[in-house]
Amino acid sequence: MPCTGARRNWDNRGMSDVATPERSQVVPRVGFVSLGCPKALTDSELILTQLSAEGYQTSKTFEGADLVIVNTCGFIDDAVRESLDTIGEALAENGRVIVTGCLGAKSGEDGGNLVRQMHPSVLAVTGPHATQEVMDAVHANLPKPHDPFVDLVPPMGIKLTPKHYAYLKISEGCNHRCTFCIIPSMRGDLVSRPVGDVLKEARALFEGGVKELLVISQDTSAYGVDVKYRMGFWDGKPVKTRMLELVRTLGEIAEPYGAWVRLHYVYPYPSVDEVIPLMAEGRVLPYLDVPLQHSHPDVLRRMKRPASGEKNLERILRWREQCPELVIRSTFIAGFPGETEAEFEHLLDFIREAGIDRAGCFAYSPVEGATANALPGMLPEAEREARRARFMQVAEAVSTERLKRRIGAQMQVLVDSAPALGRKGGVGRSYADAPEIDGVVRLLPPEKISKQLRVGEFTRVRIVGTEGHDLVAVPI
Ligand code: SF4
Repeated sequence: MPCTGARRNWDNRGMSDVATPERSQVVPRVGFVSLGCPKALTDSELILTQLSAEGYQTSKTFEGADLVIVNTCGFIDDAVRESLDTIGEALAENGRVIVTGCLGAKSGEDGGNLVRQMHPSVLAVTGPHATQEVMDAVHANLPKPHDPFVDLVPPMGIKLTPKHYAYLKISEGCNHRCTFCIIPSMRGDLVSRPVGDVLKEARALFEGGVKELLVISQDTSAYGVDVKYRMGFWDGKPVKTRMLELVRTLGEIAEPYGAWVRLHYVYPYPSVDEVIPLMAEGRVLPYLDVPLQHSHPDVLRRMKRPASGEKNLERILRWREQCPELVIRSTFIAGFPGETEAEFEHLLDFIREAGIDRAGCFAYSPVEGATANALPGMLPEAEREARRARFMQVAEAVSTERLKRRIGAQMQVLVDSAPALGRKGGVGRSYADAPEIDGVVRLLPPEKISKQLRVGEFTRVRIVGTEGHDLVAVPI
């Protein structure tokens, strides 16, 4: 249905739009103008509902409002004109204006945002269907009224991880159907979280003291595929729901906090190539958790792995050329049904040539409901276990050799546990170590006796040795 451009006389049944003098002193008040078609009207209803739920007072007029939201229409010229005029009117009468709706997503002649071009002083601009982004802009410019029921909960929510690191889930489910996995049958297809929500949560985590953000999902590289990389909004600016834009923006948000952003579950699609320069520039950690599972193309095909047709070895070597600091962690399956000795040897060669820094390996075991159970060539359990053990021997040798190269180097370490001054036993992690799954940096007593290590703080260390999967270092 085409937009009429007509100003909607929205109905705030059950809400007063006249503030009593006492109320207006304590309850922030938002003026709201809703233009456009019924789809825009429902967006307005969602925003007004959220404003009311959070305790804001809403009104149809600009008068006495602490700020004004204009939900715009951008369909035909008349509607664009009316929207721009209304924004101008709101700026003239109130001065503090947030713009949302179709016109907010429209570009001007110079390719920039049309609303910003015509009215540079607006507080924020979002596209349509952007309740969360609008609410973010409202919160940034007009603090939420105190709510005794939820204000005891920290803005970052309740976390089960130590205060200095946190996981950030960007999507749920998976569009792949790997034959050994039943996750899609339990969690469904990929559903990406709105990019504005993800970035908002990231900032709340950094504000709450998080120094390391671990991005997780079932398939981080596929972020946004389900919503066709829809344009979202963050801080009034458009951001695509796509891995590259997400990672770049996370790096920008983390920077003033001096925090780390670490990427997990990244499949080696060609699109990941664009993320490597961000690592080389130090915007996010040069660390990739890439669950490869195998190297031989025939095994990968039997596994129905994502990116199974990609030349993973060449891709990884190219990444290493672009970003020599890159650390790669991966997981593998040994003894997958039908795996020949030659295919397994291919995997061992791959580990050596790709220089996989951190590798985990499972002996294949049938999972109830997985289609791989029906594949021919199931290997005896003893053989699967033997291959796992052979894999780990090679992987550990590669890992140790790569760790030894760090001896003598200086690194930045995030302290996970700190001893009393002058006592042994501190533990930290460098950019190369994700919590729980990788090694650690064992910290000897600091060189300077006055240096006190504190949990959740960064410290510089000099690497003096290795111990299994770990590095040994002295804080300097
Ligand atoms: S193993 Fe395959 S199907 Fe399972 S979650 Fe990962 S990509 Fe999806």
